[in-house]
Amino acid sequence: MSNSHSMASDIRSEFEKAFGHSPDVVAQAPGRVNLIGEHIDYSDGFVLPFAIKDVTTVAIGKRADRTLTVASVQRPKDKYVTSLDNLAPLTGEPWSRYVLGVLWAIPNHLQLSGMNILIDGRVPLGAGLSSSAALECSVATALNHLFDLQINLEDLARLTQRAENIYVGVPCGIMDQSISLMGKAGAALLLDCRDLHTEEIPFEIASENLELLIIDSQAHHSLVDGGYAERRASCERAVGQLGIPSLRDISVAELFEQGQSLDELTFKRAKHAVTEMKRVLDAVTALQARDFLTLGKLLNESHASLRDDYTVSCVELDLAVDTAIAEGALGARMVGGGFGGSAIALISADSVDRVKAAISSAFAAKNFKAPRFFTSLPSDGAKVLTEPA
Ligand code: ADP
Ligand code: MG
Repeated sequence: MSNSHSMASDIRSEFEKAFGHSPDVVAQAPGRVNLIGEHIDYSDGFVLPFAIKDVTTVAIGKRADRTLTVASVQRPKDKYVTSLDNLAPLTGEPWSRYVLGVLWAIPNHLQLSGMNILIDGRVPLGAGLSSSAALECSVATALNHLFDLQINLEDLARLTQRAENIYVGVPCGIMDQSISLMGKAGAALLLDCRDLHTEEIPFEIASENLELLIIDSQAHHSLVDGGYAERRASCERAVGQLGIPSLRDISVAELFEQGQSLDELTFKRAKHAVTEMKRVLDAVTALQARDFLTLGKLLNESHASLRDDYTVSCVELDLAVDTAIAEGALGARMVGGGFGGSAIALISADSVDRVKAAISSAFAAKNFKAPRFFTSLPSDGAKVLTEPA
């Protein structure tokens, strides 16, 4: 894996090849894994993500005119050209919207200049590791520096979320952008999605001889929007019928008392959200006590809740989780939106090869597409990369 400096010099030379001049700024932002707290960011819940070592890097050079050119190392045939005056939600090539949307979401963006933009994303695309937030946050971090916008991290998170919600048209919560911007090495970030208050929670697993294995199931069972809209609607219905501001405002015990009036499906959706919020806080307590057995148990409970109550898992994710647990994982669960994407397993460092092999053969036996594996310790959030020495 290349370090920051060689990554920066790679993209500088790619940029010069593509545009014939050197960039004015290079920045990077990481993907993320959410340790626990799934599908509750939009219910004002707590989440506990950490930034991974894989990053998206962007190089930007100002132009004298109003032209915007967006190129991606991952889309060599698709350079996209438009003008600062033509930015409008849901226009442009779908992939370029992630970049243009960030520009559009910047207050007074018409006062910026034209730009050449090159991105190089090393976060696996569509694997549930949030390559989209990595892309948005790398661009936002670069623009903030280049135009000296002085936008703070909370506002950058809101701005990049708006870009994805409105310009790209994906109704994501605030978690992915927040952790990509605010991640810290050796820590997970307890993020209160209600007010974006954050607290760093030590997540040092290497010294415990543990690894966090990320398993990309390579499955993508997208309904039109992955069933996401239905889950959000169910939570909103529960909130309306319970007469509370959000699912944050009811305890597990209260939900079981007051939830009798809800239909069965709405109750199950609310039950996932409310119990998951408690599991996040319990996970924080466990981490603070370095109690990784309890953490593992909470991961297993989170998976069962996502599988049975929120029904966003799928056969591939269940197989990955069950196999990891059978091979001795302390805990495992699906992560991300669901219906495919990735799972995580907390395992002993010396079992990594065995767990990977067991999952690969379990997938092969079912004729599933071969899974991909990653490991990552908690890493730093977005930053501007200085010139190599
Ligand atoms: P995830 O965020 O889980 O990786 P998404 O579907 O939200 O999956 O985002 C992936 C999309 O983001 C890609 O299909 C593409 O449109 C865009 N994208 C992310 N990184 C890049 C990149 N390096 N180059 C071009 N497009 C990218
Ligand atoms: Mg995404």
